[in-house]
Amino acid sequence: AYWPASGKLSVETLSAKYSEDGPKVLRDLNFTIKSGERVGIVGRTGSGKSSLTLALLRCILTEGKVYLDGLPTDSVNLSALRSSITIIPQVPELLSGTLRQNLDPFGEYDDAVLNDSLRAAGLFSLQHSEDDARLTLDSAISSGGGNLSVGQRQILALARAMVRRSKLLILDEATSAIDNETDNVIQASLRNELGKDVTLLTVAHRLQTIMDADKIMVLDAGNIVEFGEPGEL
Ligand code: ATP
Ligand code: MG
Repeated sequence: AYWPASGKLSVETLSAKYSEDGPKVLRDLNFTIKSGERVGIVGRTGSGKSSLTLALLRCILTEGKVYLDGLPTDSVNLSALRSSITIIPQVPELLSGTLRQNLDPFGEYDDAVLNDSLRAAGLFSLQHSEDDARLTLDSAISSGGGNLSVGQRQILALARAMVRRSKLLILDEATSAIDNETDNVIQASLRNELGKDVTLLTVAHRLQTIMDADKIMVLDAGNIVEFGEPGEL
């Protein structure tokens, strides 16, 4: 089964916390994001941006409803849910093994597909060092991914989303850990290489990312304080 079919996301009274007796870090959020929309999520540090990305995948304790294409995600098993959405975290953790194993853990795709996705995601356009130029599918990845930069790890995660043809992509932009050149590569890949039907949520730290978005969501202390087109806010 190919799910989700489009990538429309709606959320009803979504609350989240990190532990049973901990404070709510998201408070009764309600919003709908249309299939193919690109939404920038902004807010001060600690406002709940990363928590929202985790809550959508039920990686933390949640109350309320999340619908993907109208289907409540609590009726879908977690592994199906996690394979139809790709999250690119602020600092992706990789598995020790090869670059190929990280991109295609179940050995489902041809090398040509994998190399195309790495190229589209922009891995080979970064050449900080001789070693960057030599990255191949057989390159060894150390535990956690420590031998790749944070930007390269995000690009690898983006390539994985492309291989899987995820319809919902959630990017938690790295801030200090990533240089402008790398961020530009990622933004260009998202603009030029993602299908028009892919729904993209970006936790944004750069003005450029916000300007490019169809809509901006502003979080403050776990609440949505604004949600609309960039020109309206
Ligand atoms: P930043 O811009 O710094 O990445 P953010 O908007 O992503 O911030 P979150 O990480 O979502 O903020 O944090 C929201 C709240 O949840 C904060 O009060 C934070 O202390 C709390 N929080 C985050 N991670 C955890 C955790 N692992 N355990 C307990 N509380 C956490
Ligand atoms: Mg964060």
